Amino acid sequence: MKKIIAVAIAFSSISLAACANTQSKTQASENHVAFSASHIERMDFGKDLQYKHWNSGKDECESRLMKESILSNYEIHQYDESSYIIRQNKCSNAEAPMMYLMLGEHKNVLLDTGAKSEDGGREFAHIVQKLIHKHGRSEQLLVLHSHHHSDHTAGDEIFSSFENTEVVEAGKKAFADFYKDDITTIALGDRELTVIKTPGHQEEAVAVYDSKTQWLLTGDSFYPGVLYVKNWKDYKHSIAKLHSFTQNNPVSFILGSHIEMSAEPGKVYEIGSLYQPQEASMAMTVEQLTALHQQLQNTDEQRLVNGAYIVQPMNGLQKSLSNIVRWAKN
Ligand SMILES: [Zn+2]
Ligand SMILES: [Zn+2]
Repeated sequence: MKKIIAVAIAFSSISLAACANTQSKTQASENHVAFSASHIERMDFGKDLQYKHWNSGKDECESRLMKESILSNYEIHQYDESSYIIRQNKCSNAEAPMMYLMLGEHKNVLLDTGAKSEDGGREFAHIVQKLIHKHGRSEQLLVLHSHHHSDHTAGDEIFSSFENTEVVEAGKKAFADFYKDDITTIALGDRELTVIKTPGHQEEAVAVYDSKTQWLLTGDSFYPGVLYVKNWKDYKHSIAKLHSFTQNNPVSFILGSHIEMSAEPGKVYEIGSLYQPQEASMAMTVEQLTALHQQLQNTDEQRLVNGAYIVQPMNGLQKSLSNIVRWAKN
């Protein structure tokens, strides 16, 4: 909590609650910002996301490979020929957010642009460009956000400068202009995204369902970690909406933006942890979402502890800071 208060002084770098730690700790050499095609050659591949192991942080950052810039600050996991998960690892930022790239025949969508990094997101943007080029279909890119916290929007400026790219900013006004309804569908040609408004963690939060992978991407609203809730009533309603959606649509995995839980049920890594050797799986299940929905139906605003996640209402200070940032960045 002290960290949250400290960073509040500098609005430009603030991020709240589940996004509480804004401290960037890049330990790689400056050569790291230079992108090379070998990043893509080294990417992981597979559909068994429940077994996916990501860079653990600290020890791996300090390894010889990292010092020689052989490893990247971003890990790329290819799910199928046109779907990628890219994680900004803990060598770059303790938040270690996940970004999702879904490529289509007529349009491509990137969900989130990452947390603060030493190179301002340049390496990440180049990775996205390379993957789009490699796919060889549309060059059009639409950049969306899971919500308006700075650990998901740090690369926006770079993407805004690219040709063939539209960035839907995460602020209140841009959000309201783009998302007219509670549910918005976005056609990419051979796949369709369904974007569902899910306020609660943050006012401009959404979940994204992809018809091709059948992923349900839930941002900071639902992931293996501490789920900070700003508005309890809205959150409860949003989780009920997602639960209902999962009862009517096939879902392969529910995937959020962070991993904070250990593989040991109920154990959570400290906020700002730079080393997580035994992370829980990133993949959440419909059963776990259903369990949360049922828990919320029977409880008033309070901390809820589950083996796979912890629900934590924001306190008054956290809510106030969130309001200030939302106002300042709109
Ligand atoms: Zn957040
Ligand atoms: Zn976050």
